[in-house]
Amino acid sequence: MLSSLRSSLAFHRTGLRLLGVVRKIDPTLLPVNLVYALAQVAGVYVGLALTAGLVDALVALEARRAVVFAAGVAVTSCASACVCAFCKRRATVGGMRCAWRFSAMLREKALSLSYETAEDPKLAERLAYIERTAQMHGNIGTVPRYYRDLLSAAANMLTCVSLVVALAFSRPVAAGWLGVVASPAVSAGLLVLVLLAAVGGNTLVGRARTRLMAWVTSTHSSVENRLIYLLNLVLFDRRVPKVSRIYDMGDMLMRNIEKNQRASMSYFDRWISGERRIDVGTSAVNAAFTVASYALVAVKVLAGAITVGAFTQYAGALAQFGAAYSQLVSNNGDLRQCCGYLQEFLDFMDMEDPRPAGSIPVEKRDDGQFEIAFEHVSFRYPGTSEWVLRDVSFRLDTLGKLAVVGPNGAGKTTFIKLLCRLYDPTEGRITLNGVDIRKYDEDEYRDLFGVVFQDFKLFALPVWENLAAGYARDDARMWRALAQAGADGLVRSWPEGLETRLYKDLGDGVMVSGGEAQKLALARALYKDAPLVILDEPTAALDPISEAEVYKRFDRMVTGRTAVYISHRMSSCRFCDKIAVFDGGRIVEQGSHEELLAAGGLYARLWEAQASYYA
Ligand code: ADP
Repeated sequence: MLSSLRSSLAFHRTGLRLLGVVRKIDPTLLPVNLVYALAQVAGVYVGLALTAGLVDALVALEARRAVVFAAGVAVTSCASACVCAFCKRRATVGGMRCAWRFSAMLREKALSLSYETAEDPKLAERLAYIERTAQMHGNIGTVPRYYRDLLSAAANMLTCVSLVVALAFSRPVAAGWLGVVASPAVSAGLLVLVLLAAVGGNTLVGRARTRLMAWVTSTHSSVENRLIYLLNLVLFDRRVPKVSRIYDMGDMLMRNIEKNQRASMSYFDRWISGERRIDVGTSAVNAAFTVASYALVAVKVLAGAITVGAFTQYAGALAQFGAAYSQLVSNNGDLRQCCGYLQEFLDFMDMEDPRPAGSIPVEKRDDGQFEIAFEHVSFRYPGTSEWVLRDVSFRLDTLGKLAVVGPNGAGKTTFIKLLCRLYDPTEGRITLNGVDIRKYDEDEYRDLFGVVFQDFKLFALPVWENLAAGYARDDARMWRALAQAGADGLVRSWPEGLETRLYKDLGDGVMVSGGEAQKLALARALYKDAPLVILDEPTAALDPISEAEVYKRFDRMVTGRTAVYISHRMSSCRFCDKIAVFDGGRIVEQGSHEELLAAGGLYARLWEAQASYYA
């Protein structure tokens, strides 16, 4: 019994930790909620006591006393309403602040994780779960509200019980059966019975409610996710208008939406019917309790133990008890559920990133000279058993241009990810100037690289913010980078130049084509002014003329820098000093274009295969 009570209250440990987080976000929120809860309860009971005095004064026909009590009732209810209104406003604003902070904390933490951890699809699922359940059951800003309601219900019940003690011990004047029923011993026993019956009835209804909410939670996401996916697909997926018109998909999509809406409606129907049954149960328990408690208080009046005025006070207090207990039970259930979900948030915030962060500063060199070497590097993606890179040993010549080529899936992009320290090798090591790169400060090491990944991302923000990213704004340098990437003409053609917003997600902005976006991403990499520029398929989205321009400018673009260039277009390799050929996770050949052609290996075969298209 005791252990089951302890385990059913264990979630309050999570609740108290969450209140600690709330206190750090808004130190006034908890005191405000405390005052709010006490003001609510005090307003009710002081009002009841004054009303009792007013009724007694009226029964005794004492006009002056009646006026004093009536004024007291008015002043109390006004004062309580004012305090409650002030606290409610503060509590709502504070709750909202916590809700925003909750979203921000999740994002800050996600951004602070190592790439390896952040890229894990399970993490995305976990974050989606935290956000979805917070929307349904509350975020950290909801927790103080639940505790406030618990506190006000508990204070309500305690006040009521202390009044009931006073009621029970009031002595009757009448004799006979009235005197017996109204005697302290019998009336105390009856009152305890009635209170226990109210507690038992409300506990049963509360259990039914907990069962219903557990069903709602387990069913909700599967029903809603399908429908929300389909609804968003039709209105917001930019690819749908084309494909739906070409393949006449309108009816098919609407049929699916309607089918899922029907499923959603029958689910809501079950949910709402369940809630109504619980409401009826609560009302029935409270009505039975009210009738029984009124009868007991009435017997006390008839037996002359209390005045008519006191009847209003005691009857009102007992009516409060039933409502307060059902509020306590339902709130406790909701809070328990909310804490259960938010425990996942706390666990995520506590999550430790297993990667040790290095601390050695990276030597800053103006001459761009440094030496990076792969020493017997093998790599498997976390959670997989396939070797993606196998025993790769390679020295990167500084101030040169390296082309990385090979068939799809050969491991070229993975090689770049390891080079940028987005992942650590499973075996072997990568060194910078002879020191394992894991020993360097991660941010300083990454400052060495300006990278354009194949799946680069631009944001619905002004051009300058896209280009400067985490670095300071310098317009002259920005225009130089844009010119090098061949995008200066494009940006100049926009009326607001560098201030022009891209895309339309955050207001009016310009839409850019795949090729234009790729040039802007290239400008971002050049603006960073890093000694090592890595371009993963940098011309994939460019038309042949733009591609030829990039090749022409390439030399100028990378002057004074080391360039690594992954390309499927073999023609681009001719611009590079050295070529590394990947196949099946290994470097199978390396050398200059001429050397590799003469060797007649994989490179020569790839070169000839592509040349034959243009023959
Ligand atoms: P390339 O750039 O040469 O086309 P990649 O380096 O992208 O090749 O991929 C090499 C292999 O690693 C492929 O078999 C690919 O499926 C696998 N791979 C790539 N990314 C991941 C990942 N995040 N998790 C698991 N396997 C991956």
